[in-house]
Amino acid sequence: MPNRDDLRRTLLRLDNGPYPAYKDIRGTYGFPDFTLVVDHVQGDPFAAPSRMRIRVPLERAGFPPELLATAARRTGLCSHLARLFAAEARRASSKAGSGKSGLIGIDAPGQEVLPTTAVLVRDGALECRFTVGLPARGRRILGRAAAEILCDAVPAVAARSLFYANLNPSAARRAAEANEDAEHLRNLLDPMGLVAFVADGAVLPRRSGVDPRPMERGAVPFESPPSLRVEVELPNRGKVTGMGIPRGITLIVGGGFHGKSTLLEALELGVYNHRPGDGRELVVTDATAVKIRSEDGRSVAGVDIRPFIADLPGGVDTGSFSTQDASGSTSQAANIMEALEAGARVLLVDEDTSATNFMIRDHRMQELIAKEKEPITPFVDKVRQLWQERGVSTVLVMGGSGDYFDVADTVIAMDAYRPVDVTARARAIAEKYRAERRPEGGERFGEVTPRFPLGGSMDPSKGRRDESVRSRGVKTVLFGTEEIDLSAVEQIVHPGQLRAVGAALLLVRRLADGRRNVAGILDEIERRIARQGLDALADRPVGDLAGFRRFELAAALNRLRSLRVNTGGSEGA
Ligand code: ADP
Ligand code: MG
Repeated sequence: MPNRDDLRRTLLRLDNGPYPAYKDIRGTYGFPDFTLVVDHVQGDPFAAPSRMRIRVPLERAGFPPELLATAARRTGLCSHLARLFAAEARRASSKAGSGKSGLIGIDAPGQEVLPTTAVLVRDGALECRFTVGLPARGRRILGRAAAEILCDAVPAVAARSLFYANLNPSAARRAAEANEDAEHLRNLLDPMGLVAFVADGAVLPRRSGVDPRPMERGAVPFESPPSLRVEVELPNRGKVTGMGIPRGITLIVGGGFHGKSTLLEALELGVYNHRPGDGRELVVTDATAVKIRSEDGRSVAGVDIRPFIADLPGGVDTGSFSTQDASGSTSQAANIMEALEAGARVLLVDEDTSATNFMIRDHRMQELIAKEKEPITPFVDKVRQLWQERGVSTVLVMGGSGDYFDVADTVIAMDAYRPVDVTARARAIAEKYRAERRPEGGERFGEVTPRFPLGGSMDPSKGRRDESVRSRGVKTVLFGTEEIDLSAVEQIVHPGQLRAVGAALLLVRRLADGRRNVAGILDEIERRIARQGLDALADRPVGDLAGFRRFELAAALNRLRSLRVNTGGSEGA
């Protein structure tokens, strides 16, 4: 195997040559403490930077075995190392010439701790995947600068971020242990009859709508109401107390600006673990919790929304409802039915992003507009059936209508960011006015009708390419010539998740033979990722994929405007 000196010699030889000659450095090099693999060399200085890997044998990396003992610990540690590598790489990068010349990059994690392909443990080695903009002046190779980057700067970055002896040991340990604690805590929810847990002392508010770091000054730490307080024992932190949100129907009420949505947003992201120092390390939610909102304008393919909407004017079939332009209420109904189809056991709903006519239909409106003239059965009449018949819990922010008191098991009032258990008072009020409003929509919830996607309706081709799938940020997947709009899917937190979702859609297409239903397809993809990791989604080593849930993959599939499905053997929607 060529070594570092060979690589340096090659780069010096290439100095001032034409840029494509850089291709010569593809291959594997033995460095003193690791191997460097140059997987892909960019074709010109403005193209996507070159992809490389460093593999450090675990015994060289020197991490105490217990930090790698469980999957949760490994994920927490790797996320920490990716963060360290990113910080060191930023410092070591210097723009040297044209295009992305001289930039060392890695897909750095955000506040959430996700399994990623940036840093991972594989075949007895710690593997770090990063990119380098190979330096050029114009379209000429800057060989000396390249040698400095690859043979000196990159090893220095690696030394400071991938070798235990050079790290802050307590920070590394905390990253591994905090992630294990969060994972453990989430696994305790079900046996404790809870859908979420918010630890005392947690900091929920963020710096701003575009800055997810914790609020710096004036944040009121979370304090559980005594009646909802539970104590848990975590493997590393030991005993912790906090608010347990029980299964069933939970309302979060309170005046405007008292922290209702902030609490719900923390619950939405509680399906993920958080980095140490985030403030939400011990805010965890059932892993199947799905945020539900209205999303007018989205497309819908063959969804049975009859539990909520029937008899639309014009005889539109809502048993297999398709549209290219859903309304507020039909989109919210479809979002719920699709979440159930994918296996959600908890729904999270905020009045701020819901369609009013989907959420409530009060006593006076019932008197004025007869049920026969209203296709919508409001959520308030379905939420209990969802719980009783299907075991699906709902956590609902509702400051504007007391009709939900009738159906709630738990009512939490946010009062200046402090939760208060007002269940008994809400129940007494509901009792007093119970006679007024009549429930609508029948005795039973209704069907969740499985759909069988047709892969032939998914066309990833673009121009001369058979498969062109890309993503932009956390809101758009470009599938072939179609843009899938995921801006209303709020539990996507990292661009790497959408890159992975885009790649997974190609697998969906291959599996969607019209005989596998959505849940079966999602199961199969989860199985493959469980077996091979996220690398199951790529045909070569890439460092920019992050873990996603089946619900977000389903969300992308469901928003593909060309999607056609079979429902119950009948021809496509
Ligand atoms: P609501 O949904 O009840 O109207 P929000 O959750 O939107 O209220 O919160 C209103 C404001 O209060 C937001 O700017 C938020 O950042 C801030 N906030 C929320 N919780 C806290 C807290 N625990 N400490 C300090 N500020 C908070
Ligand atoms: Mg709000």
